[in-house]
Amino acid sequence: MNRMNGSGKTAGVVGTGRSGAAAARMLAHCGYMVTGFDSRESASVTEHMSRAVFGDFSSDDLSGLSLLVLSPGVPVTAPIARQAEKLNIPVIGEVELALRNTSSAVLAVTGSNGKTTTVLWLSHTINVSAADAEAVTAGNMGYAFCDAVLDNPQCPVFVLELSSYQLETTDSLKALSAVVLNLTPDHLARHGTMQNYGRAKARVFQNQGADDTAILNYDDPMLDSYRDISKGTQMFFSLKQQVPLGAWMDSDGMLYYRDESGTCEVIHSRKLALHGKHNIANALAVICMGASYGIPVENLLQGLTDFPGVPHRIEPLGIAAGLAWFNDSKSTNVDSLRVALESFDKKVILVAGGKEKNSDYAVLNELITHKVKAVVLFGSGADSLARQWHGTVPVSIVDNLDQAVESVLSQAENNDVVLLSPGCASFDQYANFEDRGEHFKRLVQALK
Ligand code: ADP
Repeated sequence: MNRMNGSGKTAGVVGTGRSGAAAARMLAHCGYMVTGFDSRESASVTEHMSRAVFGDFSSDDLSGLSLLVLSPGVPVTAPIARQAEKLNIPVIGEVELALRNTSSAVLAVTGSNGKTTTVLWLSHTINVSAADAEAVTAGNMGYAFCDAVLDNPQCPVFVLELSSYQLETTDSLKALSAVVLNLTPDHLARHGTMQNYGRAKARVFQNQGADDTAILNYDDPMLDSYRDISKGTQMFFSLKQQVPLGAWMDSDGMLYYRDESGTCEVIHSRKLALHGKHNIANALAVICMGASYGIPVENLLQGLTDFPGVPHRIEPLGIAAGLAWFNDSKSTNVDSLRVALESFDKKVILVAGGKEKNSDYAVLNELITHKVKAVVLFGSGADSLARQWHGTVPVSIVDNLDQAVESVLSQAENNDVVLLSPGCASFDQYANFEDRGEHFKRLVQALK
C-alpha cells in the first residue's frame, strides 16, 4: 500500500468540517503533526489536530508546514492558499491527499446534476453484480474520500463523486472510467465564468491512459469541447440517438450498449428502478461505467432494476390517505423542479416554496399548466412564487409544511399524486434540505 511518510513533518488542514477532519485523520495516520485552520473563530478542533489557528491567520502560522490540505469548500484563491504558495508550501485538496494514499481503482463521476444518484446507483449495481465485487462510494456525497480509504484499506474500487471544487485541487486522479454527466451554469459565483467551471470538470479525465474510459453526455453541447481531452476510449450516452461507442435509448424506450465487440440490447427504460428522463440518462451513465469497468452487461440488470433510489430525490413515500406521495426535498432550484415535474406522466399536486432563489420561476409556467393540478406554496418565497405562477393553476399559500399537507388533503381526490419539490432553498425554516424532507416524511407517515 502506498502511504505518504509524514514523520517529523507538520501539515496544515484548512476547514474543520467533515472533509477537514478526514484529512487530519489521514495526515496523522501518515505521521504528520496537524495544524487546523478555520476562518470561523467558533470552529472546533477535530481529533487529529494538535494545534489550531481559528479566525485570522498570520504568515508565521504557516511557517514550518510541509503541506497544506484544503477542504472542498475552500477555494484555491483563498488568502491562506495564496499565502502558502508564496511560501512554497504545496497546496492540495482532501481528495488528492486520499489518492496519494491508496492504490485502489477509481471510477469518477462529475457534472452539475445527478452525481449522487449516479454514484450510488453505480456502486449498488457493481455490488449486486457478482459475489466478489465490492465498491465503496465516497467523495462529495458526504463520505470523505480520506475516511473511505482509511476505513476500507482492501477496497478494490472506489466510486467517487467529485465536485468541480474538488477537481480543482486534485492532480493525480487517474480514473479507470470517468463521466461528466452534464454542465449547467451552476456555481458560477466561485468559478467566475462558465469556461473555468467547465475546465474544472474536465479535470476528471486528467492522467487517463489508453486503457481507461472517458464518458460524456452526447446530448449536452456544453461538453462538445471535452471530446478529445482524454487519452482513453471515448464513450457517450444519449437519450436521443445512437452513439459511436457507449449507451443510448431508442425511440421505443429500449436501452442499448455498444463497445468494440458489438451492440447489445440492455433493458427497457420502463423496467429501470428510477423514472424520469434524467434518471434514464443516469442509468445510461451507469451502464457505460459498469460495462467499461468489466462487468458483463447481463450482470448489470439486477442493479439497474432493484436500486432503492436516493432519499429526498423524487423519493416515493407510498400511499397515505388514498394519495401517492413523493419527497423531492433536494429540489432547491428551478432546474430541479423542472426535472421533477417532467418525471411524472400524471398531473401532480405540487408542494413548493421555501427560501426563494434569485431566479425566474415564471419559466415553468407552461410546464405547470400541463403537469400540475394545483400548487400549495409555503415558506418565505411563497408570495413571490404565487405572483410568478399567477394564471396557471389554482395556487394556495400557507405558512409551513404542516399546513401544506392539510391544504393538500382538503383539495385532493383519491389516487392523486402529491409531490414535494420546493424549487427553493430550505434555510428559511430548516437547517438543510434533508431536515425538510424528513419533516415531510413524518407528516406523510402520520397519515398511514
Ligand atoms: P447532485 O449530486 O449532482 O446534486 P443528485 O443525484 O443529488 O445530483 O440529484 C439532484 C437533483 O438533480 C435531482 O433531484 C434532479 O432534480 C436532478 N437530476 C438528477 N439527475 C439529473 C440528470 N442526469 N440531469 C439533470 N438533472 C438531474
